[in-house]
Amino acid sequence: MSDTLMDFDEAVRRYDPVLGLEVHVELGTATKMFDAAPNVFGAQPNTMVTPTSVGLPGALPVVNARGVEYAIRIGLALGCEIAESCRFARKNYFYPDLAKDFQTSQSDEPIAHNGALEIELEDGSFFTIPIERAHMEEDAGKNTHIGGADGRIEGASHSLVDYNRAGVPLVEIVTRPIEGAGAKAPQVAAAYVRTLRDIFRALGVSEARMERGNVRADVNVSLRESPDAPLGTRTETKNVNTFRGIEQVVRYEIQRQAAILAAGGEVIQETRHGQADGTTRAGRVKSDADDYRYFPEPDLVPVAPSREWVEQIREGLPEMPGNERLGGHRDLHEHPVAVQGEPAVTGLHVQVVEHLAGPGTPVHVVHENREQDQFLEVRGGAAENHGGTDPDGNLARRVSQRGMPEHFLQFRVDDGVELRLAGGKYHAVGPGGGFDRVALPGGQQLRQLIGFQ
Ligand code: ADP
Ligand code: MG
Repeated sequence: MSDTLMDFDEAVRRYDPVLGLEVHVELGTATKMFDAAPNVFGAQPNTMVTPTSVGLPGALPVVNARGVEYAIRIGLALGCEIAESCRFARKNYFYPDLAKDFQTSQSDEPIAHNGALEIELEDGSFFTIPIERAHMEEDAGKNTHIGGADGRIEGASHSLVDYNRAGVPLVEIVTRPIEGAGAKAPQVAAAYVRTLRDIFRALGVSEARMERGNVRADVNVSLRESPDAPLGTRTETKNVNTFRGIEQVVRYEIQRQAAILAAGGEVIQETRHGQADGTTRAGRVKSDADDYRYFPEPDLVPVAPSREWVEQIREGLPEMPGNERLGGHRDLHEHPVAVQGEPAVTGLHVQVVEHLAGPGTPVHVVHENREQDQFLEVRGGAAENHGGTDPDGNLARRVSQRGMPEHFLQFRVDDGVELRLAGGKYHAVGPGGGFDRVALPGGQQLRQLIGFQ
């Protein structure tokens, strides 16, 4: 049965798409997340396993410190806060590729949460993706279905299971609902995952080879009548591992859901599967009450990364690909850094009056009338204004905690906009009740200030 589709342009005229992306990345550690089996791709099936990989009775897991370090690197690169302490949890379900009958994951205590990533679209515009969390977990084994078409389970006569992948470290990055993408939603989804892929590589945490399934996205899409309406019912298309596939899935779901809504129907909350032809096909019906009977993993102690370690990891982060793109090279004297404001906050002028590449190096701000006057550029040169404000002294405190010179970064905010520190981020509260957040620069490398709602 083929789906009825609405023309894409009409669909995005009539409805407001909202996205949610859950991206899994396999970490390139030498061994698995909870045991010493080698983490390698393409070995003879079932040769890279220990009793722990397959959960044999009595086998005990141990956390891979490098896996935790990589997860922290990812969290920091996405501007997240790193938990002072977090635990693993058992996510219980049965599937043949999961011999233990539970996946060791994290539920309400992720290692990283509350971040943002700015991405650049093909047309040169920027879009900020709000990140809810990044948590650690393990991959499952791999089923291969024999005898059916396209390796799918339908029509297969039997299936083979390879547990080499069971226990390979994963980080799952979950966005908050991504609003405001409109007609660009398909592009935004693909550009986000592409940017993540580039970041994983730059961080050295994964080869991030899409064709090997190192990076896989679950793509959630819903529509609503207007941007003020409550969120609509979403579908989740699982395990899409090409950028083109991601774009196609978003486009298709927008067109399919729009046709359903326009005909007075209701979108069913379900898992769907992307097809080679760019369509999606229904899988199981899914409810928010899916019960995985999560409970804290009793065989593992909590992970409590010391602040020193986190700061050390932060200091060691490489230049982010997005920053190079923005011209945020190591040397701020020569290269501008874009600061994106939030269109919702009218009249917001965050002035970075001093941003030092090295102690004593002043930088001044140049307004550039790009993107509705929302871009400011920071350029090297004489400081234009030294009247930076730091209302609560928080910036100075954080800066000195990091051992950076106090004048590392100072803001001045005009038009009655106030800067407040909350949740590790600077929030600029606009006079119109608008809301903007500015990520605090971390270490030597953060050259990019992010604004979003
Ligand atoms: P699940 O366990 O069902 O996968 P998660 O909370 O892990 O749920 O992920 C759901 C993803 O979908 C998140 O990125 C979330 O922000 C997003 N999301 C939630 N509600 C909606 C919605 N109505 N429309 C689009 N995306 C949504
Ligand atoms: Mg999910």
